[in-house]
Amino acid sequence: MKPSNYNIFVHYKPDNIYIGYNAVSNGFYVFNEEQYRQVKDILDNAGNGGNGGANTLKDTLVKGRFLVDDEMDELKILKLRNNISRFNSEGTALVIAPTLHCPLECRYCYVDRNKAAMDRPTIDALKKFYLKKIERSQSATVSWTGGEPLLALDTVVELNSFFLNEAKNKNILYRCIMATNGYLLNADACERLKQCGIDKLQVTLDGCREYHDKLRYTPGGGKTFDRIMANLVTAVNSGLKITLRSNINKDNYDGIFNLIDHLDEVFKDKGNLVFAPCMVTEIKEVKSFCPCNVYTNREFSRLEPGILYYALQKGFKMGTDKLSTLRTFCGANTLSLQVIDPQVNILKCWCNLGRADKNRVGYIKEDGEVIYTDYSALARWMDWNPFEIEECLKCKVLPICMGGCMYHNLMGETDAIDMGCSHRRHNIEEILKLFYLSRTKDVSRLNDINLGNVKN
Ligand code: SF4
Ligand code: SF4
Repeated sequence: MKPSNYNIFVHYKPDNIYIGYNAVSNGFYVFNEEQYRQVKDILDNAGNGGNGGANTLKDTLVKGRFLVDDEMDELKILKLRNNISRFNSEGTALVIAPTLHCPLECRYCYVDRNKAAMDRPTIDALKKFYLKKIERSQSATVSWTGGEPLLALDTVVELNSFFLNEAKNKNILYRCIMATNGYLLNADACERLKQCGIDKLQVTLDGCREYHDKLRYTPGGGKTFDRIMANLVTAVNSGLKITLRSNINKDNYDGIFNLIDHLDEVFKDKGNLVFAPCMVTEIKEVKSFCPCNVYTNREFSRLEPGILYYALQKGFKMGTDKLSTLRTFCGANTLSLQVIDPQVNILKCWCNLGRADKNRVGYIKEDGEVIYTDYSALARWMDWNPFEIEECLKCKVLPICMGGCMYHNLMGETDAIDMGCSHRRHNIEEILKLFYLSRTKDVSRLNDINLGNVKN
């Protein structure tokens, strides 16, 4: 046997324990000093080291894929998993924008907010398309986006009810989520969303009031923080599960900690809330943001653990999405995923919404059939994979990244893979420590952990 290429060990000094993580299996183990010594011995000696108790440890290492058969080529297996996922045309994963219009005009928005919305012929075509798609699928996933999808709430309610019922009839799993700016998320909207089966939302607040209102405003500069915050309270009280996204750049970084404090005051029970700090990326194609205000991927990777640490101290949980094995980074290079705009054009990436003229790969006909119109564009997305990129082939976190965001590479954003890299490339050790502490310890002990950029 031999050690996996995707083993990561981290020493957490205050408890003198060693965290062992394997990125292929997502196996996460905690070893004491003596166990760790034996683990190293077993791994260094091709599975034969260790002494008393080593058999159990060896079983653990085999189960967690820290120790693999000599003939196993892990890269080939990852590639196979990636290929199966990319070329499986039987999956159903839809990103649907029922409208591109939006009541806000956020500074970094990349969507062309023209007023296009779905009409009766496009809604009916989408239903027929969905019925054909799920015919051979084991499950269906729908992500509602926009523009602002709550501006087309009637369409969302009609379609999601239809999708859910048809999935039930076929006895397949149906999952859905909506990304909304929260501005229209009043009590009536919350009730209607729940009734049609949408109980997970992503809402965005970019820092405390002072910072958020400089980034996310109505046309003409109207403030939005207080209204979105009030709607959030309504949504959480109604039982909706919320991922609270915060887009972070150099301007609002300080405001993120104030936002976490504010959320802590408002939400004593955080059971339905996940806090998700994200970096603002510059979308050059639409000149969405001044590059001088945007963190590089590497810079943000160093800030992220500190923000998560602060949120953890205030009672937010670490979402499992922070650490999970992937088959593809997103669906953009898979046949299963279709990003569908209000005219039922088919795109491959969320960032292309509103620019179908340049980016559509096809469209849905009235009878629900897909007509591909640009095989070159489709081939560009489908062909992209991390197994042709030298840095990815050498990368310890390849199994939990799978090459990162393709948009930055394919749309000529940058020559460097680094922009699309998972943050885990630069902060996996700190994230593993946070996971250990979030699962096993009193968070007050977090002060023992050395995370850069933590604001006290
Ligand atoms: S982190 Fe970067 S180098 Fe590593 S697999 Fe992802 S894209 Fe490739
Ligand atoms: S390629 Fe990047 S921007 Fe496009 S959908 Fe995937 S993760 Fe999002």
